Amino acid sequence: MWNDHADIYKEWATKLKIDRIGIIGGEPMLNPDFMSWLTGINSLWPTSEIEIVTNGSQLHRHPDLYNTLANSHQLIHVKISFHGVGQKQKVMKDLDTWLVHPVKKIVNHTAYTDALWATAWNNIRDPSWPNCDTPQDFVNLPKYIQQECDKIHHMSLDIWEQEVCDTIFYDANNVKVTVNLANYFAASTIKFDPTTQRLTVHNSIPAKAFAVCYSKSCHHFIRGRLYKCGPVGILPEFYQQFPIEMSDSDRNLMNAYVPGDVNWDDQQLKQFIDDFNNLKVIPQCKFCPENMQPKKFEAGVKKVKFLKIHQNSMDHTIQTL
Ligand code: SF4
Repeated sequence: MWNDHADIYKEWATKLKIDRIGIIGGEPMLNPDFMSWLTGINSLWPTSEIEIVTNGSQLHRHPDLYNTLANSHQLIHVKISFHGVGQKQKVMKDLDTWLVHPVKKIVNHTAYTDALWATAWNNIRDPSWPNCDTPQDFVNLPKYIQQECDKIHHMSLDIWEQEVCDTIFYDANNVKVTVNLANYFAASTIKFDPTTQRLTVHNSIPAKAFAVCYSKSCHHFIRGRLYKCGPVGILPEFYQQFPIEMSDSDRNLMNAYVPGDVNWDDQQLKQFIDDFNNLKVIPQCKFCPENMQPKKFEAGVKKVKFLKIHQNSMDHTIQTL
């Protein structure tokens, strides 16, 4: 509940200016107190952009949401992020009834999606093929290459725009909704080791992992404490819930991360934030991949048995990725 945490964020708001705030989950709109969180955060950081990251299935659960967005002049907007192109029809149908027509739409190519394209292109290209550094260059390729890419590798400008890039919708009341159904992702911190059939983490050179990291400026608040990025905040919790293969020293390193505390003195807090802004590599970056290795996956709500171990007499399952 927002009121359980409001005081600590009130305190943070006196110390931190944040340009862009994401409200993420799980699925944040499943929280019955979601609107209090949204309006509470908005009142504490009234000039910050707020992006609500959702799977789009719960928009109708919060009847006040639409007007809050319409009155925010796009300062607050929704990002529908659902990693399964197969669900597209349902997501788009729900959105279509939620937005007020006419609706304008644009496809957003970013440095991230272009970098994913370049890596994917280099994976499939024949040595005789010309360069094709961005999706937009695709239309300049000879037709026979375009056809092969489309039919065999499922790669074309159209496919990329539909399945990887953001599509941004602006409705008649200037409500902004971004839809991303990407099923193409850079490698994650937690990986599956096919040899041991276990989940594990990477063993990278921290500076190398940091160099290709897209989360280095995506800091996380979790229960009022401030973390450099998602992995350092979430990995210890994930470790509690799922069996992850890690050496003792790695586990100690994972647990050694100290998140920012609003009660620190100004000097300590300033140093902590300066390290963020100066893009300081941390030892825990070793758990992240050194290469982007984009891969396709489809998310689903079906739970499958992933691996069975006997620990506290419980079988562990993990959601399909
Ligand atoms: S631990 Fe380092 S490399 Fe990994 S997400 Fe955080 S900042 Fe990026």
